[in-house]
Amino acid sequence: MPTKRRRIDRRRKAQVTREAVALFVQCEALYPIRNAHFMRECGSDGRCGECQAYLDAKLKLNDLLGIEPWMRDIEEVDTAEPPGDLDPLRAKAWRRTWQLRCALEAEVERAR
Ligand SMILES: [Zn+2]
Repeated sequence: MPTKRRRIDRRRKAQVTREAVALFVQCEALYPIRNAHFMRECGSDGRCGECQAYLDAKLKLNDLLGIEPWMRDIEEVDTAEPPGDLDPLRAKAWRRTWQLRCALEAEVERAR
């Protein structure tokens, strides 16, 4: 139903605040580093400054967007359709995160 879809879109848009966009940009920049360092010690506390900065930004972003610990991180959600092996709840969460990611990327584009 179009009415219902519009309402969801507004709610997503409302979550895409300037703070969320800034955190998203930060996460996007740091994610490749974190990914390369994943599963190995890269600092004195097991984490280098960049990995720590990524995790801090990600936690804040997840908090703002309502991404729960059991859900995939926004950087992992890189296709509109979820992988086939996700259960219905996680698949639904994937699609929601995808909508948020698209909204955030649109804001980043607009700001360029
Ligand atoms: Zn690191």
